[in-house]
Amino acid sequence: MELRVAEIKEQSAELQIEESAESFPILAQLAKEEGYVFLGPVCVSLSADVVGGIVELSGQLSVEVEIPCGRCLAPSLYTLETSFSHSYVDALPQVSGEDGEELELSAEEMGLELIDGETIDLTEEIQQQVVLLVPAHPLCSEGCKGLCFECGVDLNHEKCQCADKKVGMHFAGLKDLKVEK
Ligand SMILES: [Zn+2]
Ligand SMILES: [Zn+2]
Repeated sequence: MELRVAEIKEQSAELQIEESAESFPILAQLAKEEGYVFLGPVCVSLSADVVGGIVELSGQLSVEVEIPCGRCLAPSLYTLETSFSHSYVDALPQVSGEDGEELELSAEEMGLELIDGETIDLTEEIQQQVVLLVPAHPLCSEGCKGLCFECGVDLNHEKCQCADKKVGMHFAGLKDLKVEK
């Protein structure tokens, strides 16, 4: 997701951008490896303000995603939303200390980011924001019973006899001996 700096500077602008989740490498990886299903694009609304050579960008993002329940794997719908803001400059301003000497401060120390080239790339920022919003323990519901460890049935919808079987397990061993004879 790239923004043209010249465009932003010309018109302190309100922008609506939609971009498919698959175009963000980390989100594409979540879809491929973790079973995430993004139900729509990542929607970002941005407002840019240019104040004294500093481009102040603030944005809100939202994306709808189905994440497999950590216990039963059923897809659970999450709307991930957050806001962020950044300040960008073409060149770092010179900062003087109390004694008039020039201080060497990094962009980070000044809370600024340097514009590299003609565009501002928000890809990394946006995918990191989305990752921060992902629930650590996604659950379809608080009371989800999960899958049976033995036979794999979804205990929310079905009952299985695995718990009963365990009680009689050593008898089952004897029974098998008889069958083989
Ligand atoms: Zn569940
Ligand atoms: Zn079972």
